[in-house]
Amino acid sequence: MKPRIHILSTGGTLGMLRGDPGPLAPSEVAGDVLRYVAGLESEVDLTAEALWNLDSSDMGPEHWSRLAVTIASRLRDVDGVVVLHGTDTMAWTAAALSFALSGLPNPVVLTGAQRPIAWVRTDARQNVVHSVLCAAMPIPEVCVYFGRWLFRGNRVSKTSIESYEAFESPDCPPLIEMGVEVRHIEPARPAGGALRVDARFDSAVAIVPVIPGSDGRSLDAAVAQGLRGVVVQAFGSGNVPQAGWPAAIRRAVDAGLQVVVHSQCLRGHVQLDAYQGGRAALDAGAFGSGAMTLECATVKLMHGLGIGLRGAALRAWYATDLAGEGA
Ligand code: ASP
Repeated sequence: MKPRIHILSTGGTLGMLRGDPGPLAPSEVAGDVLRYVAGLESEVDLTAEALWNLDSSDMGPEHWSRLAVTIASRLRDVDGVVVLHGTDTMAWTAAALSFALSGLPNPVVLTGAQRPIAWVRTDARQNVVHSVLCAAMPIPEVCVYFGRWLFRGNRVSKTSIESYEAFESPDCPPLIEMGVEVRHIEPARPAGGALRVDARFDSAVAIVPVIPGSDGRSLDAAVAQGLRGVVVQAFGSGNVPQAGWPAAIRRAVDAGLQVVVHSQCLRGHVQLDAYQGGRAALDAGAFGSGAMTLECATVKLMHGLGIGLRGAALRAWYATDLAGEGA
């Protein structure tokens, strides 16, 4: 029997066409993807469904939740799910799904394209074909397929606007390279327990970058907005300027906010006790984001707050590796 794979379409460039005149915009092509991957039915039994048709910049936590619930229900009947998604926020959605769906029995593969599937020089067809084939493999994880790589979904960032290899997984090797041969690189995480969905995310979170010479007033402004969590994007291993920032972090923590310190570097592990600036942030009540990407560090904070965790409980949960995210 052939593996059964279900395609859920959410939009993105893959299904867009150029306005006349005007920018690329969602089109009816999105609902017609199976036509463009003719031949795949010799390998798998394919079904498809359009959930919505949006530029992924217009998606948010409510879409993540609806998507997680839909995937869980479709996985009762199929061997794998492929999600067609815009590239701009694919890393965010992949991270969100990796926390919302625990105990996955089968793969969930997100993919998209830099050029519409209806264009001759498109990368969409190959991305969809390879994603479907990966979704038929025993990889019970949320993944992103792009270029020629299958990545762990919560470890990717979109790092190129122009390349057909638009995504990188800075601190985690790809799971598979789909070259002329299929090369398995990083083992998949083991399947565990029963499938559970908890798709609660708190949107009252912001990312606040640190710039040289700043004194933390941008963090005070975030606190004044009534947020419940902040990701401070600091220097290097997690350092903030010692004049102003530790005091601002303390004010945020005293106001009840959860303060995560992330790095402006793409690679490496945040270590708040490596230098005085990080140590001061730690002493002021912040905690580090480990080796997570910025997208994943932020989404994990949104999920932790969404499931009702606060203070020491949130901090311990945040430091626990839940889905291979690099905590
Ligand atoms: N703006 C598009 C989106 O994220 C970009 C893409 O799909 O490549 O929906």
